[in-house]
Amino acid sequence: MPDVAETARPLRVAVVGAGPAGIYAADALTSQDAVPVAVDLVDRLPTPFGLVRYGIAPDHLKMRALRETLHHVLDHERVRFVGNVEIGADLGVDELRAHVDAVVYTYGAAGDRALGVPGEDLPGSLAATDVVAWYTGHPDADRARVEQQVSRARDVVVVGVGNVALDVARVLARSPAELHPTDMPQHVLDALAAAPVERITVLGRRGPAQATFTTQELRELGHLAAATVLVDPADLTDVGDVALAAEDRHVARNLAALADYAGHEPVPGTVGVRLRFHARPVRLLGTDRVTGVEVERTTVDADGRAVGTGELDVVPADLVVRSVGYRGHPLPGLPLDGGTVPHEAGRVLRDGAPSRGEYVAGWIKRGPTGVVGTNKHDARETVASLLADVAAGTLAPRGDDDWVDTLRARGGHPVLLSDWRAIDAAEIALGASRGRARTTIHDRGELLAAVRTAAGRLEG
Ligand code: NAP
Repeated sequence: MPDVAETARPLRVAVVGAGPAGIYAADALTSQDAVPVAVDLVDRLPTPFGLVRYGIAPDHLKMRALRETLHHVLDHERVRFVGNVEIGADLGVDELRAHVDAVVYTYGAAGDRALGVPGEDLPGSLAATDVVAWYTGHPDADRARVEQQVSRARDVVVVGVGNVALDVARVLARSPAELHPTDMPQHVLDALAAAPVERITVLGRRGPAQATFTTQELRELGHLAAATVLVDPADLTDVGDVALAAEDRHVARNLAALADYAGHEPVPGTVGVRLRFHARPVRLLGTDRVTGVEVERTTVDADGRAVGTGELDVVPADLVVRSVGYRGHPLPGLPLDGGTVPHEAGRVLRDGAPSRGEYVAGWIKRGPTGVVGTNKHDARETVASLLADVAAGTLAPRGDDDWVDTLRARGGHPVLLSDWRAIDAAEIALGASRGRARTTIHDRGELLAAVRTAAGRLEG
């Protein structure tokens, strides 16, 4: 390896997206000694943590506490958090590349996927991404739209049987007392407390053996204070499922948890959460707004695909939440192929060839799969490629100017670590005013006002 350690300045790397993948990439870059690296961890929001803040369900307090661990990376002397900057809008990809030596794209997969059935655009039909953004206090959430739908939601249908579907069902089924310890914005707690939810049906288009939720999340549903989980025993008798369970411990555990629920009867005064399988949505019914979901019974063929039987029925619904996966969106100036950035071991490919100084990690690299920790291995692979390129002499420190100065000169207001600390303190103070550990500030203007107030105090 060339003696990079003795060059005048460190390799300057911009990591675009301060969620788990970006933070793990920053960690991998700064926790090695072979190549001195300075990282700019950039996010379009004024807050770090991405899906740890705006994805992990607020009632998963232990998982959300992961941000304490991730904060150590933000605190590293060679990491600079630069929030409130949208690469591709405030600063072009090419402009950023001209200022830094390498860019690692870790901006995730924030878009929703459609069901592609008639009626999907009716009022009363939402994407899980809309609901999750709302209940986590994402600045871009369409608060009025979601609250209007939630306020009428007596019968809810959640389409999909992944962990996000269970998150949405669980949050809607929780009692106000269970949600109080979370950091949800107060208006979310109030709207959920007032929502008339009585029944939630979670629809799997294939069988229980093909469900992608994890057993822990499935079992958690059974421990809610005011909900009863219901499963039709007939959904658990497929011989194919039994055979799969013999081969796969995850399937066996899920089927065992579902079998426990299969004995339950609805309990008056509790929210009934029905997990229903072999039920594919065919269309959403209603004229002015959703009134139900027409579903077709399915069987699962030898290749694991859902095959319609032609047998139809209707599940009544005032609110339909499709939770059928996330989708990556294009960043202007960056190639995207089917929702992910084409790459080779984390090196971005342009026209099939590795592009000098461009890397990718996280969901926008591999698609929206895996748990938070999966991003650690993923980011390490990408950073290993970057460091190998330095060793091979294809990547080296070049220019010497600071892109953040350029951004400020054109009127941008980057949020740095001390600013984020001011937001953090404001959220803790807001929580304390209501006897809570923290209350998320959802409004972008208020997030930035917390920064200005703290800066004013310092100056005064
Ligand atoms: P997911 O696990 O891929 O689940 C998507 C669900 O949507 C599947 O049940 C899928 O069924 C269904 N689906 C897709 N297209 C459909 C259609 N046209 N009609 C009906 N159903 C359809 O995705 P996710 O729940 O969005 O989760 C994303 C990732 O985040 C996952 O890796 C998940 O484990 C992770 N996550 C983890 C946690 C946690 O650890 N607590 C919490 C949230 C998210 P098919 O299988 O039949 O396609």
